[in-house]
Amino acid sequence: MSDVLNLPRPAWMTEDLVLLEDQARRFLAAEFAPHLEKWHEDHFYPRDVWTKSGSAGLLCASMPEEYGGAGGTFAHEAVIDREFSLIGFDTFGAPLHSGIVAPYILHYGTEEQKRRWLPKLATGELVSAIAMSEPGTGSDLQGVRTTAKRSGNGYVLNGSKTFITNGQHANLIIVVAKTNPKEGSKGVSLMVVETGDAPGFRRGRKLKKLGMDSADTSELFFEDVALPAEALLGVDEGQGFYQLMKELPQERLIVSVHAVAMIERALALTIDYVKQRAAFGKKIIDFQNTQFVLAECKSEATIAKVFLDHCIERHVKGELDTTTASMAKYWLSDLLGKIADRCLQLFGGYGYMDEYPISRIYRDARVLRIYAGTNEIMKLLIARSL
Ligand SMILES: Cc1cc2nc3c(=O)[nH]c(=O)nc-3n(C[C@H](O)[C@H](O)[C@H](O)COP(=O)(O)OP(=O)(O)OC[C@H]3O[C@@H](n4cnc5c(N)ncnc54)[C@H](O)[C@@H]3O)c2cc1C
Repeated sequence: MSDVLNLPRPAWMTEDLVLLEDQARRFLAAEFAPHLEKWHEDHFYPRDVWTKSGSAGLLCASMPEEYGGAGGTFAHEAVIDREFSLIGFDTFGAPLHSGIVAPYILHYGTEEQKRRWLPKLATGELVSAIAMSEPGTGSDLQGVRTTAKRSGNGYVLNGSKTFITNGQHANLIIVVAKTNPKEGSKGVSLMVVETGDAPGFRRGRKLKKLGMDSADTSELFFEDVALPAEALLGVDEGQGFYQLMKELPQERLIVSVHAVAMIERALALTIDYVKQRAAFGKKIIDFQNTQFVLAECKSEATIAKVFLDHCIERHVKGELDTTTASMAKYWLSDLLGKIADRCLQLFGGYGYMDEYPISRIYRDARVLRIYAGTNEIMKLLIARSL
């Protein structure tokens, strides 16, 4: 995939990150790209994708070396995540695993919890998920009905979750539950469930979706699941909401990284196509409409990438605030939708065919405006800064 925006390398992109980019690109082209079509047809990608990614150093790159990671920063995650998107593997749950679940454990886990789980997340032996959303509540997380009630030395977990990314593969699931159902946000705790040893845990359907066909987004059920005391992430109950709020800006930035990479890919595919396809004795690129549409898309994509780089740079320095992260998630995912639509139009009928990647980008793009906090919730957060 050519670098369609031709921007200078951003300041946060150090030499070791350039090497990582190259290494990830080669690995993905050789190991995963040849199978993407089959996984798409199967609506599933195999479990060993996780362990292969772990062996290639593509999981938990920002985790400290002492816990099995590569000792990098968020910039390492951003580089790897962009590469997943550039080859068209947007359905892979690794960005959530490495950039969302692992940081919860690193930042809030006890030393024992970090040693127990992080090294296995880095190898892919453990595949993780975060289960916040429930059939009755998504945006309003204070309203979760899943409970983790004290029982003897541990807890008993009851409830159901839905729309959970990695739901079929996951064997370590952070579950948002109420340890004190009488309280609102202060009653929320994060419970870590190792599914290999959790009678009463059940996976529901792998959900049929508008896009992201090979992603194993699923329902999960917990019925009187007995958990040890150490399943509580950290040591104090009632910290879950605070922990979620602290980590969500990074989740929003990860979605932003994907949005921009998907825009880059959509543009590159479209520019290629309109240079080959002809109508009325001309290439499609020779129509002024095509040039104007793509000129607009490229301009907007360039603005998007510059803003994203600004956000990544600030986040690596620990300076990215919730407002700006929310702006990035809302604006970049909205822009992806607009650009994917305009690009698809330039493919004519072929753009509507599943075998043309632009149609998948169009479908896959839609969810970026919904998950990791809907774009309406992003605007609420931004509005608080007015
Ligand atoms: C493919 C996919 C993968 C997902 N992966 C995960 C996952 O791994 N883990 C997980 O926990 N969840 C996951 N989700 C769930 C996702 O985060 C939620 O769908 C999302 O947060 C919205 O919640 P909801 O669906 O309950 O919508 P609702 O909260 O019911 O919202 C419905 C509509 O009302 C709007 N709305 C709600 N509140 C307000 C308000 N205060 N002001 C204005 N408008 C408002 C929303 O923006 C939306 O348009 C995933 C979803 C999908 C589709």
